[in-house]
Amino acid sequence: MLKITPIPIIQDNYAWLIQNQGKTLVVDPGEAKPILDYLQQQNLQLDYMFVTHKHWDHVTGIAQVKAAFPECVIYGTGHHDIPCREIALMGGETFDLMGLHWRVWHTPGHTLDHIVFHTQSQEDNGIIQDHIFSGDNLFACGCGRMFEGTAEQFHTSLQSIISLPLTTKIYCTHEYTLANIDFSLHIEPNNTYTLHRQDVCTELRAQNLPTLPTTVADELKSNPFVRCNSPDVIRAAEHFSGKVLGKPEEVFAVIRQIKDQF
Ligand SMILES: [Zn+2]
Repeated sequence: MLKITPIPIIQDNYAWLIQNQGKTLVVDPGEAKPILDYLQQQNLQLDYMFVTHKHWDHVTGIAQVKAAFPECVIYGTGHHDIPCREIALMGGETFDLMGLHWRVWHTPGHTLDHIVFHTQSQEDNGIIQDHIFSGDNLFACGCGRMFEGTAEQFHTSLQSIISLPLTTKIYCTHEYTLANIDFSLHIEPNNTYTLHRQDVCTELRAQNLPTLPTTVADELKSNPFVRCNSPDVIRAAEHFSGKVLGKPEEVFAVIRQIKDQF
């Protein structure tokens, strides 16, 4: 039975712990101690690590976790040097691990080296559930900063995630949801779904619970970065830029610019 647990690390990151068929994997171990403490409390060995991109808050814990579990195999982006990485992934790979079938794809935009990991599980009722580990690419109601790459690349990367089935669970690596919702409401003040989501997520955070994972359906209804065809999002981008914006990637570029100054 697939079990996926967020381990809070650093200030507002999550390292996702994935357990299936007696094996354990951690995604983006940006800090070792909370992960090692959790594994010890649960009496677990670590078998694999996945690394989405090069940023310090995703890689800093790798060496220390590897020292504690020398047999652990590290899969990471092949577009940049990643500490201790054994298997370099460029995107386009598929492989079986822990009884799960994995697909990897390249999602440049936040950084040029960014990759994401997709898998599926079968629920008790027989329904296939999609899962994607999106790193700093797509966030709940937001997306990562555009440090490298172009708006067109980032927009394409986000669209590749959002074209998964509506029920797909999205496991991103930051608890930025409430701040992102404030921005989403700045762009689309009349989006009733975002207002509802603000209530739900405020309640979760008041109980110190994660607002994640999110889903494709939630993002399509409330995330301005994947709603670049929505009239309110286009209007906000055109108002800010003072230009008529013909393409969704142009709208995306402007929305990203507004967020940087928000
Ligand atoms: Zn990052």
